[in-house]
Amino acid sequence: MKKAGIIRCAKAEAMCPGTTCFKVGREGKVFFSETGPVEIIGFVTCGGCSGKEILPRALKMIDKGAEVIALSSCIVGNKPGGKYYPCPFLPQIKEMLEREIGDKVTIVYGTH
Ligand code: SF4
Repeated sequence: MKKAGIIRCAKAEAMCPGTTCFKVGREGKVFFSETGPVEIIGFVTCGGCSGKEILPRALKMIDKGAEVIALSSCIVGNKPGGKYYPCPFLPQIKEMLEREIGDKVTIVYGTH
């Protein structure tokens, strides 16, 4: 089982305990169907707009053993049914992650 770190939107933190992110990760479902079930070793926020804490937090989780870094659906805005819209900084965040950690880990864009 791979180890995964999940990064979510700081603005969603106030209302969401992350229960479904943990569930789909544990079960290897929805956006974790490409990795299979994962052990979640970290669950952090982006640090707030404009998401500049994402890279250092991803690197810290990689340091702690993460082989998968997942951006939650509240960042990516791809929750089935269209409940969330994407983070306005998503293009820059994606470009930064692909450039800096794309060769180290599997990056998953979405959770549930
Ligand atoms: S940068 Fe994006 S993911 Fe982070 S708090 Fe702002 S809107 Fe949410």
